[in-house]
Amino acid sequence: MKREGVLFVISAPSGAGKTSLCKEIIDIIPNLRHSVSYTTRTPRPGELHGRDYFFVDQAEFQRMIEAQEFAEWAEVHGNLYGTSLATLNECRANGIDLILDIDCQGAQQLKGRYNGGVYIFILPPSIAELRRRLDNRSSDSEEVIERRIRNAAGEIREARWYDYIIVNDVFAVAVEQLKAVLTAEQCRSSRVIQGLSENFDL
Ligand code: 5GP
Repeated sequence: MKREGVLFVISAPSGAGKTSLCKEIIDIIPNLRHSVSYTTRTPRPGELHGRDYFFVDQAEFQRMIEAQEFAEWAEVHGNLYGTSLATLNECRANGIDLILDIDCQGAQQLKGRYNGGVYIFILPPSIAELRRRLDNRSSDSEEVIERRIRNAAGEIREARWYDYIIVNDVFAVAVEQLKAVLTAEQCRSSRVIQGLSENFDL
């Protein structure tokens, strides 16, 4: 029997460096896929439909909610975001581990619905550093940045219920820590035993 794919759920206030960390880790950790979310947000320069997000309009997103096509969905910073239930089920059934870059509301929903998920929170070293990073990301307007800073405090309070917290101060260190967490969780005895039950009498 193949072991079930693991859900690695990663949340952070925007600007904490979560997206860069997720991109980096995909190439390092075996058997790991990035879950591409659906969103009503407009694409940023350089973002690609199907790679970064599936960009859909409000009507299509609403249709997907009603058809129960999301494993979770939430409104974040005024836009709608959701995870495809079909992709999530397919990966779990085929033993492929998924990394989900989603907000705290979505993470809560998944925690209530699935066993065995791993919940990781990425923190910036300080709010001042968070603002500096958002200011440097010139793709967002001043209004969008202000809204994201206002939301950050509330999001950071949620960190306490996650399994792991990684402070992204030095990027290379945060990558190493994330790699350590994912590797350890992939080696968790219950998962390995599930995957090896045909080879050994464990
Ligand atoms: P951004 O617009 O900066 O790409 O993402 C904004 C926020 O939406 C981030 O916190 C990101 O993790 C979250 N997000 C992205 N995809 C999903 C999703 O499928 N579900 C939920 N609940 N949040 C998401």
